[in-house]
Amino acid sequence: MLELLAKERRARLAAERLLDQKSRELIEANRRLALHARSLSDQIVAQRTEAEGLKTGQSRAMAEAERAHWQALRAERRLWQALDSIDDGFALFDRGLRLVLANPVWARLWTGAEVLDPGTGYDAMLAAARAGGRLPPDLAPDWVARMRARLEDDTPAPVTVALADGRLIRLTERRGPEGDLACLARDVTDITRHQRDLEDARARAEAASRAKSAFLANMSHEIRTPMNGVVGMADLLCAGPLTEEQRLCAETIRSSGEALLAIINDVLDFSRIEADRMTLAPAPFDLERCIHEVMLLLGPSARDRGLSLMVDFDLFLPTRFVGDALRIRQVLTNLAGNAVKFTAAGHVLVRVTGIEQADSGTFDLHVTVEDTGIGIAAADVERIFDEFEQVEAAASRSFEGTGLGLAITRRLIALMGGEVWVDSVPGEGSCFGFRLSLPAAEPREERRQPALARPLARALVIDAQLLDRTILGRQLATFGIAPVLCADPEAAHALRQAAGAAPVDLVIADLAALPAEAAAMTATLARIASGLPVFLMAPPGQPLPEAIAAADPASAPAIAAMLPRPVLRSDLWRALSALAPAEAPAPATPPAEPSTPRRMRVLAAEDNRTNQLVFAKMVAGLAIDLAFAGDGLAALDRWRDWRPDLIFMDVSMPRMDGVAAARAIRAAEAAQGGHVPIVALTAHALDGDAEAILAAGMDRYMTKPLRRAAIVEAILAHAPDGAVPPLSAAPQAEPLAPDALLPPPAADENIPG
Ligand code: ADP
Repeated sequence: MLELLAKERRARLAAERLLDQKSRELIEANRRLALHARSLSDQIVAQRTEAEGLKTGQSRAMAEAERAHWQALRAERRLWQALDSIDDGFALFDRGLRLVLANPVWARLWTGAEVLDPGTGYDAMLAAARAGGRLPPDLAPDWVARMRARLEDDTPAPVTVALADGRLIRLTERRGPEGDLACLARDVTDITRHQRDLEDARARAEAASRAKSAFLANMSHEIRTPMNGVVGMADLLCAGPLTEEQRLCAETIRSSGEALLAIINDVLDFSRIEADRMTLAPAPFDLERCIHEVMLLLGPSARDRGLSLMVDFDLFLPTRFVGDALRIRQVLTNLAGNAVKFTAAGHVLVRVTGIEQADSGTFDLHVTVEDTGIGIAAADVERIFDEFEQVEAAASRSFEGTGLGLAITRRLIALMGGEVWVDSVPGEGSCFGFRLSLPAAEPREERRQPALARPLARALVIDAQLLDRTILGRQLATFGIAPVLCADPEAAHALRQAAGAAPVDLVIADLAALPAEAAAMTATLARIASGLPVFLMAPPGQPLPEAIAAADPASAPAIAAMLPRPVLRSDLWRALSALAPAEAPAPATPPAEPSTPRRMRVLAAEDNRTNQLVFAKMVAGLAIDLAFAGDGLAALDRWRDWRPDLIFMDVSMPRMDGVAAARAIRAAEAAQGGHVPIVALTAHALDGDAEAILAAGMDRYMTKPLRRAAIVEAILAHAPDGAVPPLSAAPQAEPLAPDALLPPPAADENIPG
C-alpha cells in the first residue's frame, strides 16, 4: 500500500514536474507568440500607412492627369477657335502631303464645303478644286503637278493662285521639323488691286513728271537761246570802246541777263531734283582746282568788299577724286557765294580735310566754308535748307537770291551720299560744311611727298591766265616751293634782272605765253631760264615744240618736263620728283622739216543767226579760218569736205541735232581714223544732256551763254601743231583778253591762305 502510495506520489511528482515544465514551455511559447503578434501588427500598421500614402498619391496623380487632359482639350479648342476665326486659310499636311487638319477657310477655298477630311492628299485636294470649278477652266494640264512639285522644295516660294471667282490667293508654306507642311492661304485680291492702282498712279505721275521735265527743258532752251544773244552781245559791247554811260548800260544788260540765267538754272535744277531726274556723272576731277576756280570767280565781289578769300586744302590728301565735278562745283559755288554775299568784312575760308577709309582708296572728305558775316539765328537754321526760304522777310530784303541755293545744295549732297550742316553765331559768322566719300583718282605713291632729289626754294611761273598761275602758285607752295608769278616773259625777265632779286631754281612757263615764232621762243626761254630746268605747260598730248627740240643743245633751254594743262598737283609732283640732282641734258631730237603754216580751221554748227553773229564776233581777233553750218547735216558735210581742226556743235538744231551729227562723225572716224575735237554748245541746263553729249562722242560741252574766254581757250587748246598760232594775228588795237571775265590781277599776287 505504502509502496503503492509512494508510487502514486512519485507519479504525481513526476506529473507535477512535467506540468511545470509544460507550463513554462507554454509561457515561453505564449511570449514568443505575443512578440510575433506585435511585430505582425506593426507590419500591418506600417503596410496600412504605406497603402494609404499610395492611395492619396494615386488620387493626386489622377487629378493632375485629369487637369492636364482638360487643359489640352481647352488648348485644342482655343487653337481651333483661333484657326476658325482667322480670315486666312490654314492647313497642316504630313510628310506624305496628306491632310492632318485644315480650318474652314482652307476647306471652303478648295471644296466649297466647311470641312476637308483628314488624310486627303494635296493633289487630290487641288484636283477636286479643279473638277469642282473652283479654279479657272483655262489652267495648264500640268498645273496640279507643278503646284505639287513646288512643295518638294524645303522652303517653297510663295505663289499666287487665281480662283474662278476672280479672287487672288497667295499660298505660303513652311516645313516643320518632322517634315510637316504648314500652309497659309491669304486673300490678296484687294491688296493686289490696290497695288495695281498705285502702280498705275505712279506711271501716270511719272509720265506727268516727264512731261514737266521736257517742258522745262524746252522752256530752258527757249529762254536761254535769246538770253545767250543778249548776254553775249552785251559782253562784246563791254569789251569795246564805250562812253561811261554806254558802259553802264551794257554792263547792266549783261549782269541782269546773267542773273536771270542763274535764276532759271536754279529753278530748273530744283525741279529736276524734285522729279528725281537729276543723275550724277562721276568722273575723275581735281577738287583743289575746282575750289580755286570757284574762289577766283568770286574774287571780284570779294574784292569789292575787301574780303579775303582763302583755301586750306589738306596737304596730305590727294587732289584728284572721282565725283560729279559739275555738281560739286555747284555746291561750292552756292556755299562760297552765300558766304561772300552775307559777309561785309573779314574773310571767307574753304577748308578741306579728310581721312582714307581703311586703305580703301576712298576718302571721307570734310569741306567747310567759313565766313565772318552776319550769321544765322538758331531759330532760322532749320528752315534755310528748305526751298524758297530766306532769313529776311521778303519786304525788308536787302540781299538778292531765290532761296533755292541751299535747298539744291542739300539735295545734291544727299544725292551724292553725303550730308550738309551749318554752325552759326549771329553777328559773328557761319560755317557751312558737307561730308562726302569719294574714291581718289590718283595712285597712292603720288600722295606721299618724300624730299625732292633736287632741293627747290623758288620757282618762276610765267602764265598769262591769272587763274592758272594762281593755282600753280598754290600747288608749288604746298610742296614748300615759293612761287614767283609773272603774266608774261618780259615781266619774268625783268624780275630775273632786278637787283637783289631772290634766285629761282626752276622756271615753269605756259607755251601760250611765249612768243609763237620758233627762234624767238627758244631765245626768250633761254634768256629767262639761263641754264635752269624748265617745265613747259601745254595742252594735253602736245609734244615738245619743234623749235626747242631742233635748237642747238648747247644753248637750248633745258626742258625737263611737259606739263599738260590744267596742271594737276600729281603731275607737277611727278615732274618735280623726276628732276635729277644735276641738270638734265636737253633732249636731242632730229630737226624737223620747215613747212608753210596754215591757219586753224574752226567749224561752228549753230542754227540761230544771232548766235552765229555773237560767235563770229567772239573769235574775230583770232588767226583762224571760221565756217558755219546751219544744222547737223550741213555740219557733217562741212566736216567731210573741209576737215576742221575743231568743231563747236550746238546741241539742238533742225534736221539733224548736234548729238546725232557728232555720233555720225565719230562713226565715220571709226572707219577711217582721226578724231576731230568737238565741243558741244548747249542751252539746256538740264542734265542727262551732259551724259548724252559725252556718250555721243563729243569731247566736252559748254553751256550757253557763250563766253569769249571759254571759246578762245578751247580754240587755243586744240590749235594743231604746225598751224599759225591762233593768237598770233591778234590786232594790237583790240587785244584778246582770254581772261577778260576773270578778276583783274590784284595789286600783289600773294597766294591766299
Ligand atoms: P538765297 O541765297 O538765294 O537767298 P539760299 O538757299 O542759298 O538762298 O540761302 C537761304 C538763306 O539762308 C539766305 O537767304 C540767307 O538768309 C541764309 N544764308 C545762307 N548762307 C548764309 C551765310 N553764309 N550767312 C548768313 N546767312 C546765310
